Amino acid sequence: MTASDPIYLDYAATTPVDPAVAEAMGRSLAEPDGLGNASSATHVFGRRAAERIERARAEVAALVGAAPGEILFTSGATESNNLAVLGAARANAHRGRHIVSSRIEHKAVLDPLKRLEKEGFAVTLLSPDRSGRVDPEAVRAALRPDTVLASIMLVNNEIGVIQDIAAIGALCRARGVLCHSDAAQAVGKIPLDAHALQLDFMSFTGHKLYGPKGVGALYVRDGARARLQPIAFGGGQERGLRPGTLPTHQIVGLGAACDLARRGLPAEHARLAGLRERLWQGLAPLGGVHANAEGAPCVPGILNVSFEGVEGESLVTGLPELAISTGSACNSASAEPSYVLRALGRDTQLAQSSLRLSFGRFSLPEHIDLAVNAIRREVARLRTLSPASEPGHSAATAEVVGEAGGPGQEVWVRFRLSVRDGSVKGALFKAYGCPHTLAVAAWVAERLRGRSRADLAPGTPAEWAETLAVPVEKLGRLLVVEDALADCARHWREPG
Ligand SMILES: *Cc1c(COP(=O)(O)O)cnc(C)c1O
Repeated sequence: MTASDPIYLDYAATTPVDPAVAEAMGRSLAEPDGLGNASSATHVFGRRAAERIERARAEVAALVGAAPGEILFTSGATESNNLAVLGAARANAHRGRHIVSSRIEHKAVLDPLKRLEKEGFAVTLLSPDRSGRVDPEAVRAALRPDTVLASIMLVNNEIGVIQDIAAIGALCRARGVLCHSDAAQAVGKIPLDAHALQLDFMSFTGHKLYGPKGVGALYVRDGARARLQPIAFGGGQERGLRPGTLPTHQIVGLGAACDLARRGLPAEHARLAGLRERLWQGLAPLGGVHANAEGAPCVPGILNVSFEGVEGESLVTGLPELAISTGSACNSASAEPSYVLRALGRDTQLAQSSLRLSFGRFSLPEHIDLAVNAIRREVARLRTLSPASEPGHSAATAEVVGEAGGPGQEVWVRFRLSVRDGSVKGALFKAYGCPHTLAVAAWVAERLRGRSRADLAPGTPAEWAETLAVPVEKLGRLLVVEDALADCARHWREPG
């Protein structure tokens, strides 16, 4: 990173590769153990590669309390989830065709489940409570005689909540139901023991724990291997469950990352918990700030907060000095707010005003302080556009207010005009919405002076979109700006 780069606070999306990991990978690529194909048992190059891979397998296994033979290498957590969910469901379809999961799973679990529904499986998706926890009793209640698999994530990637997988694993085991957990956000972050959790399958990935992208693992409990079938076919590697030539340097990187994580975990956990507290103490004084997942156990490296009256995408756009993400999606035509926050029962507007701040190994207290200052500045600025701070108006003019959309909705725009002698003398706007909506509302407000009631709109939504380079799929949102102007015309009253 260079000095002018933003501060990286998006560790939940991916973590930087630890320099020690990069070094181990570089060595592996350069040295003869990078040459051989681990399946080539007839010569020393193949045997060296195989040896190096087995050493990494042991390092990975040690981090998650597994035996080395219970670790399969994959391309990442997406593939591991697909293999576990599709492979376990299909291998056990003769026993039953029902699966239990949750609404807050990653798409890499939800989408394979949708695929299984097309194949005739029934899926029960449980809702979490308001803090984001899936009640193990709800899992128990959802189990049916034909349930073959439960898949509940260990740590949620948006809000950081840790699920009670030990309880869920135990009750599944007692009922003979296979249990999978997506642990991409948990491995290396909290102490984990796959055997103690009574899991049959557990997915994780290198790039969330300071390893490389493109490599991950699936823990497959010894006794559960026969109840899993492959989703790809080929050379028979990884006991036939995940065929394909093993990428030696990637696996060496994953092994090194797991080894580093295991040795540093207790101290790092405490340090990150301190940073999280520092961040929260810095933001809370703003008021109208909600910590999502409050009251539930969380990993220390994720803080998801909602700011009343501030739209998340506009907030992120106003914070170029921070590399962060939001739960809301300004890039979709429908502006669908985070399905995870919605599942927690947040209303659309609070779900859309969220910021996910995630930090880790290379985050320092001064990064947190800088982020706090920047967010406080930007939230305060955006809130001046909110209905809580209305400007006054002089007695010589009449005030005309028009609005469209509405509080609690995705987009809301209000214009406040001073009118006299048949034309606009001044205009203010307030808006809640994505950056495009705000930009167009501001642009329009600047062009209302001198305009009459009959000819109030300075152009059409299509023209505004073109002038301000708004993507065509977002044109629909600009209709709210037009509607707000029409509402002004409806309410137009002259002084006296
Ligand atoms: C990142 C992530 C994934 C996807 O992992 P990839 O290695 O990028 O495929 C799946 N589940 C969760 C919870 C994640 O955070």
